[in-house]
Amino acid sequence: MLAPSPAVVETESSGLDPTDWRPLRAQGHAMLDAMFDHLEGLAAGPVWRPAPDSVRARFTAPLPIEPTDLAHAHATFVEAVLPYGGGNAHPGFMGWVQGGGTGVGMLAEMLAAGLNANLGGRDHMPIAVERQVLAWTRQMFGFPETASGLFLTGASQANFLAVVIARTRALGLRARDRGVLACMSRLTAYASTDVHGCVGQAMDLAGLGTDQLRRIPVDANHRIDLVALRAAIAADRALGFTPFLLVGTAGTVDVGAIDPLPALADIAAEQGLFFHVDAALGGLAVLSPELAPRVAGLERADSLAFDFHKWGQVPYDAGFLLVRDAELHHRTFAAEAAYLTRAEQGMAGGDWWPCDYGPDLSRGFRALKTWFTLKTYGATALGEVAAQTCRLARRLADRIAAEPELTLRAPVALNIVCFNYGDGRHDAGIVADLQTAGRVAPSTTLIDGRPVIRAAIVNHRTAPRDIDALIDGVLHLGRAATRGAPNP
Ligand SMILES: *Cc1c(COP(=O)(O)O)cnc(C)c1O
Repeated sequence: MLAPSPAVVETESSGLDPTDWRPLRAQGHAMLDAMFDHLEGLAAGPVWRPAPDSVRARFTAPLPIEPTDLAHAHATFVEAVLPYGGGNAHPGFMGWVQGGGTGVGMLAEMLAAGLNANLGGRDHMPIAVERQVLAWTRQMFGFPETASGLFLTGASQANFLAVVIARTRALGLRARDRGVLACMSRLTAYASTDVHGCVGQAMDLAGLGTDQLRRIPVDANHRIDLVALRAAIAADRALGFTPFLLVGTAGTVDVGAIDPLPALADIAAEQGLFFHVDAALGGLAVLSPELAPRVAGLERADSLAFDFHKWGQVPYDAGFLLVRDAELHHRTFAAEAAYLTRAEQGMAGGDWWPCDYGPDLSRGFRALKTWFTLKTYGATALGEVAAQTCRLARRLADRIAAEPELTLRAPVALNIVCFNYGDGRHDAGIVADLQTAGRVAPSTTLIDGRPVIRAAIVNHRTAPRDIDALIDGVLHLGRAATRGAPNP
C-alpha cells in the first residue's frame, strides 16, 4: 500500500481564496460589527421604509465581469439593502406571522456558511446535529423515539410533504410509479375554511387537486365544525370518494384559532384517515407551560408541520416536518441512484440520509442555527417568548375593548388580534399610513369577508410600548380620516 503523500505546499493563490487572509479577516470583522450595530439600533429606526428609485436602480446593473472590492460591495449592501428590509426584525412589526431572528442565529448562519456542509446525506457531524434537533422535536411534541423528521424551507413545504406521505399511506407505492390516476381512487382531504392556502396548493402539487380538499365551516371561534366534518366525510364516502387525510390547524393564519385537536384525532382514528396538523404558527406553544394545554392533541398527530423561524426566532428559513411512522415517511421519498450508493465505511457511510425523507438532495445546515438557538437560550426562554407575545395580544385586545371607536373581530386564542376602527371603511388606509410612518406595522386580512386590521405579535422584541403605539396610531389616524371624510 502506498503511504499517503504529504500535502503539497502551495505558494501561489489558488481558486477564490486570498493568499493573504488578513484583509478579508479585517473586512469580515467590520461587516460583523456593522450587523451588530444594526441589531442594536433596530428600535431607533423605522419598521419599514419604501426604497426610492435611486436605490432600486443599484440592483438593475449588468452582470459584473470584473471584480469589485469586498468593502465596496459591502458599502452597497449597507446603503441600499440594510435600511430597506422587510421589517420583521423590528419590535414594531406586527404584519404577517414572522419571527424576529436573533444575533445568535446570525452567528450560527455564518458558521454554517463557513463550513458549507451539504446535508443531503453521507457521514459527517452536521448530519448528527440535524438528528439531535430531530430528537429534541420528538421530545417537545411527545412523539415516539421512532418518529422521523427533517428541516425544510418552511411549513408550506412541510405540509406538502405530509400530503404526499398521506397519499402513499392511502395508495401505496403504486402511486409513486404509476401515478394517482392509475390507482383508481378519488382521494379527498378535510380541513377548515381557515386552513392556510399552502394546504390546498399541496393537494394540487401532489396531483390530487385543490377541489378534493373539502373546506369545512368553522364555529364562532374559527374552529372546524365537527358535525359538518363528519357529514362531509360520510357524503363523500356515499359518492364513492376515498377520504384519506384530515388536516387540523394549531394557530390559523388569520386569527390564531386552534382546531379541537383531540376530537380531530378521534375522528381520524375512527375513519382511518391520516391526521396531519399544520402547527406552523402555534406548534412551539408546547415550549410554554402556560400555552401548552391550548395545543393538547398535537402529540396524537401522524405528522406535524411547524416553523422555527416564527415563534422559535431562528433566522429564515427553518421549517420542520415531524412524522410518526418513519418507515412510511422513508417509503414515500427514498429512491435508488448509483451516485448515491451507500457504503459500509468512508464518507458514503452513515445510516440516516435526509435525502431519503424529502425531495431535496442538496440541503443547507438549517439545523445549526436551530441547535444554537435552542442550546443557548434554552426551551424555557423560547416558550416564555411565545407566552409573552400572547400576553401582548391580550393587552391589545383589552385596550380595544376599552376604546369605543375600536371593535375586536375575532376571539384571541394566541397572538393574533383582528379589529376595526369604526365601521372599518378607513382601515386599509390606516394600515398603509401606519406602515409608511414606520413606528408600528400591522397588516390587513378578511374575517367573514370583511376587511380588518390584523396584528400578529410573533417577534421577541415587541414590547407593551409597541402595543400602545399601535392603539394610539390607529386612533389618531382613524379620527383624522373620519374628520376628513364627507358625511355619508
Ligand atoms: C406561516 C404559515 C404557513 C406557511 O409556512 P411557511 O413557513 O411560510 O412556508 C402555513 N400555515 C400556517 C398556519 C402559517 O402560519
